Amino acid sequence: MRKTDVIIVGGSAAGATAAITARRHYPEKEVLVVRQEKQVLIPCGIPYIFGTLGSPVKNIMPDAMLEKEGVKIAIETVKTLDPLKQMITTTEGAIAYERLILATGSLPGRLPVPGFDKDGAFPIMKNIAHLELLQKRLQDSSRVVVIGCGFIGIEFADEIRKLANKTVTMLEIAPYCLSLAYDEEFCVEMQEAVRSRGIDIRTNAKVAEIKGNGKVESVCLVDGTVIPADIVIFGVGAVSNVAIAKATGMKLGPTNAIAVDRAMRTSAKHIFACGDCAEKVSFFGGQPSPLRLASIATMEARIAGANLYGIRREHDGTVGVWSTAIGNLAMATAGLTETAARQNGYNCVAVVVEGPNRHPGGMPGGAPTKLKLVFEKNTGVLLGGQVRGNTSAGEIINIVSACIQKRMLAEDIATFQMGTHPALTASPTAYPLVNAAEIAISQMYKTRA
Ligand SMILES: Cc1cc2nc3c(=O)[nH]c(=O)nc-3n(C[C@H](O)[C@H](O)[C@H](O)COP(=O)(O)OP(=O)(O)OC[C@H]3O[C@@H](n4cnc5c(N)ncnc54)[C@H](O)[C@@H]3O)c2cc1C
Repeated sequence: MRKTDVIIVGGSAAGATAAITARRHYPEKEVLVVRQEKQVLIPCGIPYIFGTLGSPVKNIMPDAMLEKEGVKIAIETVKTLDPLKQMITTTEGAIAYERLILATGSLPGRLPVPGFDKDGAFPIMKNIAHLELLQKRLQDSSRVVVIGCGFIGIEFADEIRKLANKTVTMLEIAPYCLSLAYDEEFCVEMQEAVRSRGIDIRTNAKVAEIKGNGKVESVCLVDGTVIPADIVIFGVGAVSNVAIAKATGMKLGPTNAIAVDRAMRTSAKHIFACGDCAEKVSFFGGQPSPLRLASIATMEARIAGANLYGIRREHDGTVGVWSTAIGNLAMATAGLTETAARQNGYNCVAVVVEGPNRHPGGMPGGAPTKLKLVFEKNTGVLLGGQVRGNTSAGEIINIVSACIQKRMLAEDIATFQMGTHPALTASPTAYPLVNAAEIAISQMYKTRA
């Protein structure tokens, strides 16, 4: 039987990061990544295969980053895991381990409607052959329906619209796109941007059935609307891939992911889990969190990898920070929206500021940028933020996320020491984070008096 020190099952965002972290923290240990696929897709780049990159093979995570750290790779499918004997069996035989990390990820969510499995209906799989097939089918199709207006649905729709002779219709059951992560005013701006790019976006649209004689021919809504379609793409979330953990009898959590503690330990001795397969709790109040993101997966992998032979890191809970972009419009969000904060029982102050992200605004790369910050009214703790702007929105939101994670107060942010430059940032006299915090403070004082 083969033997190694550390086995990581899965080689995508979580698995690769866990392996690198394990080698950095325990350089004397041999680390083996066991994964199914020969080449690993960069998951977040998948939508861009269709319009911008042109092929799945242009969206591959290089193995060189693992090899540079001395990580070994085995392209095998794990069939069983025995926590007592500390061994796995794979398509190629058995391997014994000292420590193991499950990073088996997620599978696309399925829409429970008749016809979801017809020829021409595509869930979004992180699989090269599947994406090549979708690409090929798109060449011969003109009418595309995307179900789900989250960021993945929007990115897919926009990329497909870049191809010749395509009509693209998006369907969303909620009143707005992105409504779980943004307040209404941001959702409306994104919808207008999507429409301006020639995409028909329909909200409050509940799918009843996908019709066709074997092959997709139309999508029928509950209100009786029929939308002709050659291809249907589902952007309706992800479900944790827990097959191995479940067969082993490991504990699962409330969202049917692998239960883990704050050190990413599972219920089985010497076995950790991270990424989309692992259960998450919210940073705000510790409720189960449904979020599944590559950025969360890699952060958890850095905790799991570091803790293999002694606890060095703990999980604070999922803040929930991510961004998306179509054309020149970027939207980014972190923490709680104003709507979610109020629904969760927070008494809050929300402030919106708008101004250029360069000074003067006519500098290259300048764009009007809107920032919304949400604070808890009595303590001044930052709960969330949203940004609409151009490419700089992605990094602005990461600053907001760091402030949330460190539980910074409006007062801390108002005196936050930033560096500014005309070609790179907003003006120091109207720096959006600081401005928003100052306005929030004045509102808190006003309402306290
Ligand atoms: C289209 C799309 C766009 C996205 N864009 C973003 C984005 O912009 N930003 C962001 O933060 N997140 C994004 N996400 C989410 C992100 O892709 C996931 O959160 C991320 O892939 C999770 O990584 P993971 O390693 O946990 O799981 P996965 O990426 O699902 O990888 C699981 C790994 O486990 C392996 N595996 C599973 N079972 C076995 C087995 N039995 N034996 C061996 N190997 C096995 C798989 O082969 C794979 O290597 C996007 C997702 C999609 C689908």
